[in-house]
Amino acid sequence: MSFDSVGHKPLFSRLVRSNGKIQVGMGPKAQKAIKNIGEKIETGEYEFENVSCFCGSSDDILISEIDRQGFYYPLVICKKCGLIRANPRMTKASYIKFYAEEYRNAYGESDSDVDKLFEHRINQGKQRYDYLVKHIDLPTNAVVFEVGCDFGTALFPFAEAGYDVYGCDYGVEHIECGRKKTGLKNLFIGGSEKLIETNKKADIVMLHHVLEHFCDLEGELITIRKIMKPGGLIYIAVPGTLWWINNICGANVLGLLQNAHTYQFSLGSLTYVMECCGFKLIYGNEKIDSLFKIDNVFRKKQFVPDREFQRVVSYLKRMERKYLPKYYLIKCLEMLGIKKMIKNMRQKRC
Ligand SMILES: [Zn+2]
Repeated sequence: MSFDSVGHKPLFSRLVRSNGKIQVGMGPKAQKAIKNIGEKIETGEYEFENVSCFCGSSDDILISEIDRQGFYYPLVICKKCGLIRANPRMTKASYIKFYAEEYRNAYGESDSDVDKLFEHRINQGKQRYDYLVKHIDLPTNAVVFEVGCDFGTALFPFAEAGYDVYGCDYGVEHIECGRKKTGLKNLFIGGSEKLIETNKKADIVMLHHVLEHFCDLEGELITIRKIMKPGGLIYIAVPGTLWWINNICGANVLGLLQNAHTYQFSLGSLTYVMECCGFKLIYGNEKIDSLFKIDNVFRKKQFVPDREFQRVVSYLKRMERKYLPKYYLIKCLEMLGIKKMIKNMRQKRC
């Protein structure tokens, strides 16, 4: 297949495809998965398709051609609404295959100890519970749904507090492990259709680092809206572009990029998408931790956020200026062989 369908140079020259590198220092399962994915993209086993923006426009600029593992991952920003998306991106069928066969391995989870990971997620779940109950007032016996619930660890504190909890996830191993370890019965393998089958309506739905993986944003959000009570809440966390790059990735744009993410959001572009799907913002920050409520009003897609494109692009350029000195320093150390020397010394010390 041709990978030249976008036909423009990316915003940052170091993010061209030829610069893609397999990251070192990961476990053997991760390295094997990364190699497999790269080959499947190159041979066309993973197929790509062009998709227009949520707002309907196809007028974009290219940000990057690669993700942090070096995979082909053309990321564009829409000039009309400022939403960032992968385009072209893997087809839904290819993504399903990717999640089933490679995803958790590629990002290192299969190399880590499941018990430790579970404990880590239990702590994260407790923090999220504390955060949410500070912001919301749930009725007694409230129904709590989570789409992409992993082990079910974020539902666990809600269950302990007496709420009626249900979760779904495509990851078979983690759901089975979660059922055993948490004792929660209503953890299902699959997508939001599994929550429809419960015939329950949610007081709150949680989407924790899930929305950025959806292929059909509007379709998924409208489905979720249908399984919520009138006035129901939806909690959304995603890696917010305007916070994550500086605070988590040390200003390196590449740190945010992974080919499993079909979209990247700022609070402005997320609010736009949510309002078009019948939700209104209750609380949110650029990190993004946010709460939305079902609304009777649907924003029209043509009313795009004002100057969001300019705001996001100027942030990305600012981050790149901040990161470049470090990038060139690392390149110099690599050329002189010093980086490898430091790494070896560190490994010996460990
Ligand atoms: Zn757009």
